Amino acid sequence: MPLLESVIGLEVHAQMNTRTKMFCGCSNDAYGAPPNTLICPVCTGHPGTLPVPNREAILKAIRASLALHCTVQEDSHFDRKHYFYPDLPLGFQISQYDFPLARSGTVQYDIIDHSGNSTSAHTCRIHRLHMENDAGKLTHRGSHTLCDFNRAGTPLMEIVTEPDIKSADHAVAFAQELRRILIAANASDADMFKGMMRFDASISLREKGSITLNPRSEIKNLNSFKALEQALMYEEKRLRSLWEKEGGPLHHNITVGWLDDEGKTRLLRDKEEAADYRYFPEPDIPPLHFTRKDIETLAHDLPPPPREQKESLIKMGLTNSEAQQLIDEPELRLRFDALMQHTHDAKRTSGIILTQLQGFLNAAGKNISDAPSIDHLIELISHIDKGTISANAGKKILQNMVKSGRSPSDIIAKEGFEQIADDSALEQIVQNAMCANPQAIESYKKGKEAALGAVVGWVMKESKGKADPKKVNELLKRRIQTKKEAT
Ligand code: ZN
Ligand code: MN
Repeated sequence: MPLLESVIGLEVHAQMNTRTKMFCGCSNDAYGAPPNTLICPVCTGHPGTLPVPNREAILKAIRASLALHCTVQEDSHFDRKHYFYPDLPLGFQISQYDFPLARSGTVQYDIIDHSGNSTSAHTCRIHRLHMENDAGKLTHRGSHTLCDFNRAGTPLMEIVTEPDIKSADHAVAFAQELRRILIAANASDADMFKGMMRFDASISLREKGSITLNPRSEIKNLNSFKALEQALMYEEKRLRSLWEKEGGPLHHNITVGWLDDEGKTRLLRDKEEAADYRYFPEPDIPPLHFTRKDIETLAHDLPPPPREQKESLIKMGLTNSEAQQLIDEPELRLRFDALMQHTHDAKRTSGIILTQLQGFLNAAGKNISDAPSIDHLIELISHIDKGTISANAGKKILQNMVKSGRSPSDIIAKEGFEQIADDSALEQIVQNAMCANPQAIESYKKGKEAALGAVVGWVMKESKGKADPKKVNELLKRRIQTKKEAT
C-alpha cells in the first residue's frame, strides 16, 4: 500500500446580508417568517416579470471578493443555469458562468494546537467567486411536498477553492476563517444555525508526492462545521479502504450525500457526466462593468482582516482563545469594544464579557441576542467604578440583568446592592471579624498572607456582599499593623 494523501476542495454558498432579495424588492429576512409571505411575481417566476439586480448585493460581493484577495473582473455578467426543480419557479437559476465577478484569491488560516495556541499558518487559494440567487425550500410530509418560496431569490455568493486542502481539520479551519472574513467584510451574517453558509466538499486520494488529480467524491450540502469535518473524515477512510481493495483511486467522479444521523455517506449519483445546464447569458440583465477606480474605492473602506484584528486583541493582553472568541461572536465584540472605552483594561473587560456575561447567558440557556445592551453594561461598570457597588455585587447584578432584562440601576435600587459607604459601619464589622477569627489573624501575622482571605470572606458574608473587599482588606491590614505597633 503506497503512502496516500487527501486532496480536498470546497464550494461554499453564503447568503448575503442585504435588505432585499437579489432581483426583486422582497425582504431578505426570511428566517422564521410564515411560508410564502415574502414573495412577489419576480421571485416566483411569473411570466412577463423582469429581474433588477440588487446594487447592495453586488457591492457586498465585491467587498467579499476583495477581502479574499481576489481580482474583481472589470467585466462580468449573469447567466441562466437551467434545471428543473419544484423550488426553482423560473426553471433556471440566475448565476454567473464563464465571466464570474472575481477570480484568484487566497485565504490564510491558522491551525490551533490542543493547548489553544496557534501554531502554523496555511494558505488555500480561491478559484472564483460569483453571485447567484437561492432556490426556495421544500418540506416533505408523507406523500406531500410543501414549497416555501420565501428563500427563493436570496442573494448568494458561491466561493470555489482550489484543491489545496489536505485534511478534514484543515477544511474546517479554512471554512471558519472564511466565515470570519465574510462577516468582517459585512457581506454575510454567515449564521450557521440559520443555514446561511453551506458547503459542498470534494475529496480524492493520490500517492504522496504525485501531482495528479484523481476522480473525486463530492459530498453535497453540508451545513455545519461538524458535518463538514465528519463527512470528510468518513469519506477519506472509505476511499482509503477502496484503494486498498482495488489498488487505485475512483474510476470516475461520484456524488454522495451525508447522513447526519447515521454518520455515513450515501451514493447519490454514480458515473457523473457534466450536467447540461444549457448556460447562456441572461438577456434581461445588462453586463456588469467596474472600473479599477470603482474597485479601489471599495477596497479602501474594508476593515482589517480578522487575523489582524485577532493579533491586535492579543497585543492588548488577551489569550489567543479569548481573542478568537471575540472575533467569532460579533455581538460580544461590540460589547467588549464599548466597555474597553471605559475600563481601558483588556483583562478586566474580557473577564466581564467572556467569563461572566457568557457564563450567565449559557447558564440561563440564553442566546447572545438576549444579552444586556451596551448601555446597561456601561451603567453597571460605572456603578462599580464609582464605588456604589463592589465588583462582587456587580457580578450578581449582571446575572440578574441577564435573567430579567432589567437595568442595573433598577436592580441596585430595588434590591439593595449598594456598598456600605459608611466607614464607621464597616470598621465595626471589621472589628467583629477580627474577634471572630483569631487564628486566621495569628497566622497572617506569622507571614501567611492568604490567611487574611478567610477574614475578608467573613466580612463579606456578614455584610451580605455589601462591603467592598478591597477596602476590607486595607482596613484589616491597617488594624493589624496598629495593633502590632501598640504591643
Ligand atoms: Zn420577490
Ligand atoms: Mn451554486
